[in-house]
Amino acid sequence: MVEWIAGYRERMADLPVMSPLEPGDVKRMLPAAPPLKGGSLEGVTGDLDRIVLPGITHWNHPGFFAYFPSNSDLASVLADMACAGLGAQGMSWQTSPAATEVEEVVMEWLRVMLGLGPEFTGVIQDTASTSTFCALLCAREWSSAFGQARGGLQAEEAPLVVYASDQAHSSIEKAALLAGFGRNNLRLIPTDADHALRMDLLEAAIVDDLAAGRRPCAMVAAIGTTATTAVDPLAGMARLSARHGIWLHVDAAMAGTAMICPECRPMWEGIESADSIVLNPHKWMGTGFDLSAYFVKDPEHLIRVMSTNPSYLHTEQDGQVKNLRDWGIPLGRRFRALKLWFLVRSQGVEGLQARIRRDLANAQWLKAQVLATGGWELMAPVNLQTVCVRHVPVGMTDEAELRAHNLALLAAVNKAGTYYLTPSVLKGRQILRVSIGASATELADVEGLWKALIEASMRVAG
Ligand code: PLP
Repeated sequence: MVEWIAGYRERMADLPVMSPLEPGDVKRMLPAAPPLKGGSLEGVTGDLDRIVLPGITHWNHPGFFAYFPSNSDLASVLADMACAGLGAQGMSWQTSPAATEVEEVVMEWLRVMLGLGPEFTGVIQDTASTSTFCALLCAREWSSAFGQARGGLQAEEAPLVVYASDQAHSSIEKAALLAGFGRNNLRLIPTDADHALRMDLLEAAIVDDLAAGRRPCAMVAAIGTTATTAVDPLAGMARLSARHGIWLHVDAAMAGTAMICPECRPMWEGIESADSIVLNPHKWMGTGFDLSAYFVKDPEHLIRVMSTNPSYLHTEQDGQVKNLRDWGIPLGRRFRALKLWFLVRSQGVEGLQARIRRDLANAQWLKAQVLATGGWELMAPVNLQTVCVRHVPVGMTDEAELRAHNLALLAAVNKAGTYYLTPSVLKGRQILRVSIGASATELADVEGLWKALIEASMRVAG
């Protein structure tokens, strides 16, 4: 398997970045029934090549410009192999002390790497969706019965309200619904021309809710939205949260990694006021999926919300150690910290900074080309590594036509197999997102993509 993984990574750049398969193609190649008798795993690499590889979209490919990157740097691949080989389960300190203590130390490293103050404590979750769900559960419990955790929604007479921008990731809506706030108590506040939350409208919504007898409970600031990496006004939101006693959660799932570079930190000015923060090292940083970093200011509150204490989980060390099952939703825990530890050991902080700066510079290069080329429009500020564009053929003004044209252009580029990018709709307008940041992507790849976009725009416009 080691040989196979090494070989795959060597030839990945020559494979079509997006899987060309049709629905059902993989299932057809698998036997319908399980084998009755077990056998050796001999031949498994052949099956991986034949059945699995054609059905893989290569997220670590240099031509991957879709979604956000999900880098799986080699050190983290090796760490994941060690994790699986050890088969350790870190629900309690005693069930594998190394799993808890490596996590404690690397999350401290990460806190310092990001420039976060010592008032924050980090814990690893699987995804940003889970981290945000934990945040809204903590906010709910903090509001209800004034911090006497576990009052839950039943302890509230007034409905509790959550605020985020209309550009917030769908995981916020999902978390709010799962945490029981209800759709009627989720306010998605309109955004400004740069796609950031409008403070005036947030303030007005809070005032309205208070006047109607509802209770503002949590607000989520997006530092780097999914569509465009827009940055919400965190410092202003922090002031509102302090004034009204509202839990402040920061979703920096993608942009958080950039904070390893001190020059990016003005983007999250006011971060010291957050009650909770999520960022995903499994996106841009390189730990491989999945590893989400969740920082909280009041770990005792998180533990109060998340812990249960059945007798079959008691250990001698309880009270002296962290039992990380009390820091999140699942009981069982993979040894994810190994991935972050290996990554930081192998790259060093400077190595990670250099890669982030390379990607930021490549995005600025692409932005300059778009601005200098007739027929192309830049659709959002380039705050980080995502460049949002659209092509406007001469005389085409109808939004539906522009939409069809840009989607056809996107399909033409994706179908060719060298590059992969994804669309989005921004205030009713179709855009193409060029999300730079796969570890393997160099300037030459961005140049190649730009050439491919221009060629496709000519072909599609016909
Ligand atoms: N928040 C933002 C801003 C995102 O862009 C994403 C995913 O792209 C998420 C949350 C959800 O991340 P996860 O897949 O880790 O739940």
